[in-house]
Amino acid sequence: MVTLEEYETVDLFSNWDQKTQPIITIDNLKKWFPVSQQSILFSRVVANIKAVDGVNLFLNKGETLGLVGESGCGKSTTARVAVKLEEPTEGSVYFKGIDIFQPMSREEELAVKRQLQMVFQDPYSSLNPRRMVLDLIKEPFDIHYPDMLYEEKESRVLEILAKVGLEDYHALRYPHEFSGGQRQRLGIARSLAIHPEVILLDEPVSALDVSVQAQILNLLHDLQKEFNLTFMFIAHDLSVIKHVSDRVAVMYLGKIMEMCPTGELFRKTAHPYSVSLLSAIPRPDPRIKMDRIILEGDVPSPINPPSGCPFHPRCYKAQEICSKVTPQLEELQPNHYVSCHFPEI
Ligand code: SF4
Repeated sequence: MVTLEEYETVDLFSNWDQKTQPIITIDNLKKWFPVSQQSILFSRVVANIKAVDGVNLFLNKGETLGLVGESGCGKSTTARVAVKLEEPTEGSVYFKGIDIFQPMSREEELAVKRQLQMVFQDPYSSLNPRRMVLDLIKEPFDIHYPDMLYEEKESRVLEILAKVGLEDYHALRYPHEFSGGQRQRLGIARSLAIHPEVILLDEPVSALDVSVQAQILNLLHDLQKEFNLTFMFIAHDLSVIKHVSDRVAVMYLGKIMEMCPTGELFRKTAHPYSVSLLSAIPRPDPRIKMDRIILEGDVPSPINPPSGCPFHPRCYKAQEICSKVTPQLEELQPNHYVSCHFPEI
């Protein structure tokens, strides 16, 4: 069987230098959703939900970047734009140096989408319940490699099922016949089928039992090593992020607050929001006294975010300037980026 690379007809990424350039760069990304007011005759936009409001981050080839933050902070929307499932309101996403939202031919568009795949939190709702597993996993080949022979597609489906720990006979079953963990294996198999370079994992284990979570995390780790994959791993659970990530980006109200190597986030936490998130991680030893920082109030509405630093209404270090001037994400120490006027380092 020939390799999938031999089917490639476009060469978009030959200028990318893996040693000096990140595989993905997200530059000042904004994604706003309009809120409309409806009258009998007219509909007009009265506000915008600023789900993503100026995100800057990057992923290096072969690493796992953990993206962490409270529900509704814009993590999933950032990922959906990064794999071209949504158009940005403003800003750019570069994959291997190419702006993925620049005008391009259908062949070029498919070449980009082949490389960027996503795994969803609830695989059941992302798998068509009326289609057999064989057809579900074959579908990406139908779209991207229409000239491939049916027999070759079928054998590639069986091969990828084996990689995710499923058997040949599972190909003839329907999604409802699988457990939660097996369905997530199917979601991973589907995203992996056409050999992407980057997979964005949107809370891939948060709906699973703890024992199954561990199996899926181990599977992802093995697949990453075997296929040299780059992961963006979205989660709200810092202990999972600590386990799987090489670097972490902490997000709050549509912006990145801190981004650094995982160990450094736990040793040299710089942003007050990260400090309060870390203080909430339960310790297994009851003798260890916890200095938990309880955040005051709720997360503000993304329709009308606070002026200046979005965290200032809840921050224990806030001063006058914080409500007036928006801090920028700056590299305070090598590879440690923080968006705060008064960081802890
Ligand atoms: Fe707190 Fe001010 Fe830093 Fe924002 S800029 S996190 S309000 S200290």
